[in-house]
Amino acid sequence: MTWRHRDGTVITSISDVAQPWSPDALTVLPLNMLGTVLLRHCVANENVTVLWDKKVTDVGSDEKGAWAVVEKKDGGVERWTADYICGCDGANSQVRKSLFGNEFPGHTWDAQIIATNVYYPLDKFGYDDINFIIHNEDYYMAAKITTDGLWRVSYGEDTKLSLAEVIAHQPTKYERMLPGNPKPGDYKLLNVGPYRIHQRMAPKFRVGRILLAADAAHLCNPFGGLGLTGGLVDVGGLAECFAGMQMGVADDTILDKYDEMRRLKYQEVINPVSSDNFLRVSATDPKEALVKDEFLMMVEKARTDKATRDELDQGVFAVCHDFTQYYNKQPKEAARL
Ligand SMILES: Cc1cc2nc3c(=O)[nH]c(=O)nc-3n(C[C@H](O)[C@H](O)[C@H](O)COP(=O)(O)OP(=O)(O)OC[C@H]3O[C@@H](n4cnc5c(N)ncnc54)[C@H](O)[C@@H]3O)c2cc1C
Repeated sequence: MTWRHRDGTVITSISDVAQPWSPDALTVLPLNMLGTVLLRHCVANENVTVLWDKKVTDVGSDEKGAWAVVEKKDGGVERWTADYICGCDGANSQVRKSLFGNEFPGHTWDAQIIATNVYYPLDKFGYDDINFIIHNEDYYMAAKITTDGLWRVSYGEDTKLSLAEVIAHQPTKYERMLPGNPKPGDYKLLNVGPYRIHQRMAPKFRVGRILLAADAAHLCNPFGGLGLTGGLVDVGGLAECFAGMQMGVADDTILDKYDEMRRLKYQEVINPVSSDNFLRVSATDPKEALVKDEFLMMVEKARTDKATRDELDQGVFAVCHDFTQYYNKQPKEAARL
């Protein structure tokens, strides 16, 4: 992982981000591949049923149970009941809207990010697997997403540009910011997807028997990969809560802990770190990055100082929270979790 000037020269870097020697090694997968892995596990687990083409249009709960109103593909409507419901239905979550209407406090950045997938041999120009280019106008992230030469290049554009203007401007942007100053015939562009970026958190992650997790509960800009990661650790924590209740070692007040601790993690880790990540690439003077940006100064120090490197690697786990600590006893079953 390398931070660079717009001309490609290196500011600083972390080698072996995937920590191949570590039992907690990171694996970086594009979302579609991760989705395939998750689905395979769900299908193999007899406790999980995956249903397609069902749209939740409302949810509610009382002291006895929770319910969801579900619209089927043929237009039919069903009412499903459950002990608890967790809304993991993404940024435009209907479950969140059923609980809070349009209330989703936070802010939207004054930038649009253009996610492009492109075949262009960035590694021939010395690019590493993940590259952050620091520049006030031409900031971008370039990450290798397959082994056959496909790269994700995400760059910033003015929010005033329409989709047509973004598409028309893309060749100029590429030529100006990518190494080798490529013209359209020099690369194979697969897609261009503009999107707005937000820092937002729902007022609560638990209301009665309804829970929220992942993008339904909180949003952050994608620089640093804390969106998906934050969602995964939400559902991991929630699974620990439900497992504790199921085994009789926790009552449902553990779900209040889920609400409290996952919101705290957003406020103390995900929101500030992802905001810093975005400001680092888009609003930092690259010439001063190694004397003013504390994180990059730490990265630079970690190149030669093992203790700093260990601290940096362990920082990844700051988003996690262990909910088994709230179990009121530790049965044999709990040890299996
Ligand atoms: C361009 C881009 C790049 C990103 N890059 C990264 C990255 O590099 N690293 C990272 O960590 N994160 C990244 N993110 C963020 C990451 O994609 C999200 O945080 C993550 O996908 C959220 O997962 P989720 O399951 O909460 O929501 P989603 O992935 O949005 O899934 C929600 C699911 O709910 C379903 N659904 C929605 N409404 C309903 C309804 N009413 N009824 C039933 N089902 C419903 C949807 O069909 C969908 O399957 C990126 C996001 C974008 C847009």
